[in-house]
Amino acid sequence: MTGHVIELAGVTKSYAGTTALADVDLVVERGELLAIVGPSGSGKSTLLNIVGTLARPTSGTVRIDGHLVDELSDRGLSALRATTIGFVFQSFHLSPGVRALDAVADGLLYSGRPLRERRRTAEDTLRRVGLGHRMYHEPHQLSGGEKQRVAIARAVLGDPPLLLADEPTGALDSRASLVVMELLRELNRSGTTVVIITHDRDIAAGLPREVRIKDGRIEHDTLTARQVGV
Ligand code: ADP
Repeated sequence: MTGHVIELAGVTKSYAGTTALADVDLVVERGELLAIVGPSGSGKSTLLNIVGTLARPTSGTVRIDGHLVDELSDRGLSALRATTIGFVFQSFHLSPGVRALDAVADGLLYSGRPLRERRRTAEDTLRRVGLGHRMYHEPHQLSGGEKQRVAIARAVLGDPPLLLADEPTGALDSRASLVVMELLRELNRSGTTVVIITHDRDIAAGLPREVRIKDGRIEHDTLTARQVGV
């Protein structure tokens, strides 16, 4: 297996009349922290859905953590997602009335582990994201930044090697954004590969690698630009 967590080669995604992604090549190594940045409609979500194995490309090949996605059945894809990829979204996706502890513990519902153990793991993970004092709060009792940290705790519960965050600070004020970005950096320092989709150029520019996408094509990649010295 290679050290590549993500390997896209010649990936195109077409919808009737629209090419959302055109011939995209992208390699992400284990342990990277990068932003995919671009204006609305440029293909960021399509790219995230393909990397997250939620959508299949029209053509081209996709390898995630060494697995050739084209060869996997839908069941195989679900298994790959469950073990390899954590997802974080702009809108948190937390159910009303569900306490932080349960929202996170429910992520282990199908793990076959007993409730007490699921709760203990959820507690540890909430402490890891700095929410040890908010275990019993429901979403309406949490700030936006805290809600996003609960969502991140749920996403990293099984310690997936890859975390995909779609506009994770899009619904947050600037102070909460900083806290969430710092948490994502911290997870990256502990070994998780983190891909952040954003239209915020300041956030993107503050990350070690920035992949700019426009009209479904990679317009600029700060990593490959450094490698070829442009
Ligand atoms: P972004 O996330 O950068 O805003 P998207 O990946 O959502 O961009 O969209 C890229 C292009 O593909 C847009 O022109 C969009 O209208 C089109 N598109 C995305 N999803 C679909 C779909 N399910 N059906 C048809 N067109 C789509």
